[in-house]
Amino acid sequence: MHTEYFIVDKDNPDKEILGQAAELLKQGKLVAFPTETVYGLGANGLDEEAVATIFQAKGRPSDNPLILHIAHKEELSQLAAHIPNNAKVLMDAYWPGPLTIVVRRKAVVPDIVTGGLETVGVRLPDSIVARKLIELAGTPIAAPSANTSGRPSPTSAQAVLVDLEGKIDAVVDSGNCQIGVESTVVDCTTPVPTLLRPGGITLEMLIETLGEVEIDPILSGSFELAPRSPGMKYTHYAPEAPMVLFEGESSQVVNLLLQEINTALAEGKRVGALVSTETASRLPAAVIPSIYGRRENVDEIATNLYMALRSYDDHSVDVIYAEGISEEGLGLAVMNRLRKASGYRIVKG
Ligand code: AMP
Ligand code: MG
Repeated sequence: MHTEYFIVDKDNPDKEILGQAAELLKQGKLVAFPTETVYGLGANGLDEEAVATIFQAKGRPSDNPLILHIAHKEELSQLAAHIPNNAKVLMDAYWPGPLTIVVRRKAVVPDIVTGGLETVGVRLPDSIVARKLIELAGTPIAAPSANTSGRPSPTSAQAVLVDLEGKIDAVVDSGNCQIGVESTVVDCTTPVPTLLRPGGITLEMLIETLGEVEIDPILSGSFELAPRSPGMKYTHYAPEAPMVLFEGESSQVVNLLLQEINTALAEGKRVGALVSTETASRLPAAVIPSIYGRRENVDEIATNLYMALRSYDDHSVDVIYAEGISEEGLGLAVMNRLRKASGYRIVKG
């Protein structure tokens, strides 16, 4: 299959070009497009056959539900059987934006979208390109991240093509995504809303808005528990080489990481290090570094994270050692992705 390539301005996208991409979506085809979080792989969310091709192209397990993306707040009522008050509060505070709200679904939402669940995750993205595209397509768009299942999510059109060129009908390019990690997912069907996945809207923001938020136990990595957010049980975001994550107080983390690197180098291993700008300057010369940004700038780290993980596609290493960061604010989402990328191979400092 030939993958068409459309390029548009991030703030003022050409309507005709987006119209061509929207036409493909209307025909049941697969179009990858930018959002403020990561690139999504879109299909008509109410068309079962179109949605099925998303799972095929990504190699995604069929019980991992998709998020439906809408262009206007009012469209939620077409998809939701009931909109709890907490969901309304969250929509008012954070839509458009990087927040997915889980509500009970209406029958129009196909089983294949929800992995058979009676709930559906819905998001109104902030990206103008994404919203215009959805509006022109005239239907909710099902869109998981536009990567091969298990790989780091794409934050550029080039990263989409690395994974999916020839497997999808088109990609819309409007440059790099700003936030860099996926949306926050909040289940609003529980009496107290439950955080299922940390993301662009931080836990601190949710608590400030709602007063009280439950945290799904799966976020602590307890795999014995049946996950309510099915995607959380899969290893994800992983680079090709095995990764070990160092967590804890910063100076201890760096000391442990450097020790472990020296041991591995002495054993003749090719070593990658996914680290902050500060730590990069302390690495032995033989290490292949990938720098995610300055330790005090978590926004920058989130933006660069997946690009930094993907940089090991081009360098063959035996092992990657990753420097953990503080879980404050967006740090919780970053650490959640790093833990999953490491397959929970974690060293605590
Ligand atoms: P992705 O778009 O690839 O980041 O994946 C979407 C993720 O959103 C899934 O893996 C789930 O963790 C979560 N999600 C989507 N819909 C639901 C739902 N109805 N209930 C719980 N979690 C959901
Ligand atoms: Mg994904």
